[in-house]
Amino acid sequence: MNQQIQALWAQSQDRIKERIGSQSFDTWIKPLTAMTVGEDSLTLKVPNHFFVEWLGQHYLNMMKEVVSDIFHKPLSIVLVPPVGEIQAAARQKPEPTEFVPAQPTSESGLRERYIFDTFVIGKSNEFAYATAFATAQDPGKLYNPLFIYGGVGLGKTHLMQAIGHFTKRKRPKARVLYIPAENLMNELVYAIQNRKMLEFKNRYRSLDILLLDDVQFLSEKSGLQEEIFHTFNSLYDARKQIVLTSDRPPKDISHLEERLVSRFQSGLVADIQAPDLETRAAILKKKAELDGLSIPNDVIYFIAASVKSNIRELEGSLIRVVAFSSVSDQELTVDFAREVLKNIISQKSRLISIELIQKIVANYYSIPEEALKSKRRIKKLVLPRQLAMYLSRELTSASLNDIGNRFGGKDHTTVLHAISKIKKMIASDNEITSQADRITELINGG
Ligand code: ADP
Ligand code: MG
Repeated sequence: MNQQIQALWAQSQDRIKERIGSQSFDTWIKPLTAMTVGEDSLTLKVPNHFFVEWLGQHYLNMMKEVVSDIFHKPLSIVLVPPVGEIQAAARQKPEPTEFVPAQPTSESGLRERYIFDTFVIGKSNEFAYATAFATAQDPGKLYNPLFIYGGVGLGKTHLMQAIGHFTKRKRPKARVLYIPAENLMNELVYAIQNRKMLEFKNRYRSLDILLLDDVQFLSEKSGLQEEIFHTFNSLYDARKQIVLTSDRPPKDISHLEERLVSRFQSGLVADIQAPDLETRAAILKKKAELDGLSIPNDVIYFIAASVKSNIRELEGSLIRVVAFSSVSDQELTVDFAREVLKNIISQKSRLISIELIQKIVANYYSIPEEALKSKRRIKKLVLPRQLAMYLSRELTSASLNDIGNRFGGKDHTTVLHAISKIKKMIASDNEITSQADRITELINGG
């Protein structure tokens, strides 16, 4: 019996590996061992309780799907840390050991931790935060719909759910529903196939607040947009609040019907940008505080400086470092963190090289690449050169000296001067800001 479980679990692991790639697999899935399988659950042993949290947030739903398929029955997954860990965790917080954080905490689909209080405000998200907060105060009135867009892992889902929590707290009877657009589409398809359209309509049209996440997925299902449009309108006409998120502004969602685009942008459109270093550090501190972890400040800053564009990855890196230090019983230092995050960090800096930045900047301004390395001080060349140095600093892990060398042997004060000049320009000159944004997009493969 036990052998059979092991074999099926091994098979499940292979399938999971295909889905998430070998690096994540080695870190998070490989260390898990199958303990028992019951009527409706598979119990897995995890090295420590960080795995419970991490897997819960990232992989549990997918794992459930895979094991149910391979074990040929619907299974949920129970994650069990070693006994010592359970006791330690129990001493800290009186929480059941089998908690599964990925599960929505209520029928509204909201996740417990996604509230305003745990959201760290910085320049990059203050506008989106302010609009979300205002919306929560007075749903259906101020901004309807509220449309929040921004890159992956920047806090859209968190903010959107915070609106739901806030409303629920103030009016416990309010009907709030959080749903990813993809799931909504699936429900709709199911309703159509099973002649349950009336139920579908009633379910959605009776809501007080609809939180529809990642609406860029609507673009793939153009046949269903008609019904979405009607649902949207009936909520809107009844002055019910609608909040939408997407990875891009409404007009950039391809194959989205014009009338939906115009509906989506008829309220307020707010964007979230990637956070700056201070905000990233503040987010890590908050996360550590919430998890009851004490982490040295220099380690926080090291991680914040290493992981720049995605807060989910930022938090993941923190958890990874803490988990490794607790498994290996080593002290949490910057060197230790650097070692643990080695692959993640070098992968990023390998992807974007100074050469690439120079090539793209030169191309953008139609000047020869060599001009970026020269000392000629004509205006037409100075700005691109300084901008390229600035981007090299922002987007790679190169030091000031490295950058100086790659730009024709300039010393680090010259590089520093260039960087601070561009920073000032970006703060005051929209034209430069949009050029820098566009070039960054190109560098990132846009
Ligand atoms: P998105 O929906 O934009 O992809 P999420 O809302 O899922 O991003 O955020 C990813 C993770 O980062 C979540 O765990 C979220 O709590 C966290 N996060 C994002 N922004 C902030 C913030 N400003 N303060 C605290 N945590 C944040
Ligand atoms: Mg999201």
